[in-house]
Amino acid sequence: MSDCLFCKIIAGEIPSSKVYEDELCYAFNDIAPQAPTHFLVIPKEHIGSVSAVTADNSAVVAHIFEVIAKLARELGLESYRVVSNIGEQAGQSVFHLHFHVLSGRDMTWPPG
Ligand code: AMP
Repeated sequence: MSDCLFCKIIAGEIPSSKVYEDELCYAFNDIAPQAPTHFLVIPKEHIGSVSAVTADNSAVVAHIFEVIAKLARELGLESYRVVSNIGEQAGQSVFHLHFHVLSGRDMTWPPG
């Protein structure tokens, strides 16, 4: 999608701090980290949010969760949080599906 920030990051038009990449997804450090470890995992295909996941595109979501588990193992993350905000009220600011992976500090529940 031409006006999508994360599509531009995938295309290399906007720089990012890459954590991982394969044919289906891209992971990079969040520019405004909310924890000592905070990276985002996104599909290369443009999907607006979890609310746009369907039977036709959900395979990449399963793949992303495999990648998150693999990266967490490799990074030695014993406890971490995976978050996806859907819609502005929930805090979504970039409308390309992404999963935040946060670790390295105490976190509260329920979220504020
Ligand atoms: P959300 O608010 O859930 O949509 O998450 C979007 C995230 O993207 C925020 O945590 C931002 O800090 C992050 N972000 C925005 N622009 C960039 C960028 N150029 N590189 C890395 N992360 C970014």
